[in-house]
Amino acid sequence: MTETTKVFGELQTNYSQENVYYQTITAILEAALKVGLPHRLELILAQPKNELVVNFPVQMDDGDYRLFQGCRVQHNNVLGPFKGGIRFHPNVELDHVKSLAAIMTMKCALVQLPFGGAKGGIRVDTHQLSQNELMHLTRRFTSSIMTNISPVYDIPAPDVGSNAQIMAWMADTYMNLNGPENRFDGLGVVTGKPIEFGGSAGREKATGQGLLFVLEELLPGMDMSLSDLTASLIGYGNVGSWTGRLLARKGTTVRAVMDHTGAIRNDEGLDTEALAEYVTEHGGVAGFPGGKPIGEDDFYALEVDLFIPAAMEQMIDADKAKLLNCKVVVEAANAPTTPDGESLLLDREVAILPAILCNSGGVTVSYFEWKQNRQAETWDEYTVDQNLRARMAGAAARVQDAAHRYDCSLRMAAYAAAIEHIWHVYEIRGIFP
Ligand code: NAD
Repeated sequence: MTETTKVFGELQTNYSQENVYYQTITAILEAALKVGLPHRLELILAQPKNELVVNFPVQMDDGDYRLFQGCRVQHNNVLGPFKGGIRFHPNVELDHVKSLAAIMTMKCALVQLPFGGAKGGIRVDTHQLSQNELMHLTRRFTSSIMTNISPVYDIPAPDVGSNAQIMAWMADTYMNLNGPENRFDGLGVVTGKPIEFGGSAGREKATGQGLLFVLEELLPGMDMSLSDLTASLIGYGNVGSWTGRLLARKGTTVRAVMDHTGAIRNDEGLDTEALAEYVTEHGGVAGFPGGKPIGEDDFYALEVDLFIPAAMEQMIDADKAKLLNCKVVVEAANAPTTPDGESLLLDREVAILPAILCNSGGVTVSYFEWKQNRQAETWDEYTVDQNLRARMAGAAARVQDAAHRYDCSLRMAAYAAAIEHIWHVYEIRGIFP
């Protein structure tokens, strides 16, 4: 019997082994066993603290009403207020969101931010909505979860399918529904806002920038330097496009990109800046004149140094892992590698840089934004980047140190370092009452 089966048995819950929540909790519990976490804390971390599902109507432009479903999962707040993105996507499932909330708890702990973990989502295809419908959907969802979020209790942010404009509507709704005396404190209820409305310099590129700082910390130890490398990317949204652009600015040749519209390749290196503009205009990479179209299997099999998944969960399963021809998988997306995919890659000595380290730049600059809002301050981009680099370097060092102490993979080391911090804080605080 595995530790996960035992713990879920005690909690009287049951998941299939393919379930992404099962897989996330398994990774956490394997690391918990390694560090010797007390069983009572294993049980706490294996279940979210709160799960809220809301069904709410929205009037469409044609006058008709549609019912939407959204959720907010608050996994753990021993380190501070819950923190995590809101996903707008047709495949939003509660177990996916629970998994992402647990990952947020680990990520904030690894970077030692004063936040716990949460995640939310709305099951919707935003491409089918007008701007007006999207705004009404956002405002109505915000009012539905209104009593469960606040700048000192739970602070949402953007994720797949949401953006700075959506965060602005969320903040504005929250501020308007609050009494006048609390109105302006309400600005800090979400992060990832536009700069003109309480956002932080450097937040839009933060996840890609943090990933770049992590690579600059770790690659020299692997005898690699960004200026000599080739890379391919899945996803060219916020995380993928910033990662691609920042890598290219450092001299890395981005040979291929795939997104939901198709895959393109250019062995001389794609023009990552022009590609970002093209995707903004056309909605995807397909048809980009600076690359030639390739099939999905050819994309996965292309020889590169860095393979960077920056799209959805569980995309690198065993079949895809067999195709990969890279030295390092850099996990920019959350949970992009399945356990089967991971063990195949590790057997082939492909290094995997884990998501909770690689993509923690987003929540770190969200923390800087929240801090600026609370102190009524504005940092410039240089200050944001310097602070981000220091946080990423600290987290990378903790992962390397844990990998050395426990003689384990970088993924297990990242979870182990996060769990040690959470355990330490539980020891100091105790469990109420
Ligand atoms: P986004 O919506 O901006 O972009 C998502 C990208 O994924 C798009 O390019 C889309 O085409 C692509 N995609 C979707 N389905 C696909 C498929 N089936 N095949 C290939 N490509 C597909 O989202 P994002 O904010 O860039 O988030 C990407 C990942 O990074 C997610 O796992 C998210 O949770 C994670 N993440 C995001 C942030 C952030 O600050 N935005 C921070 C940390 C982690």
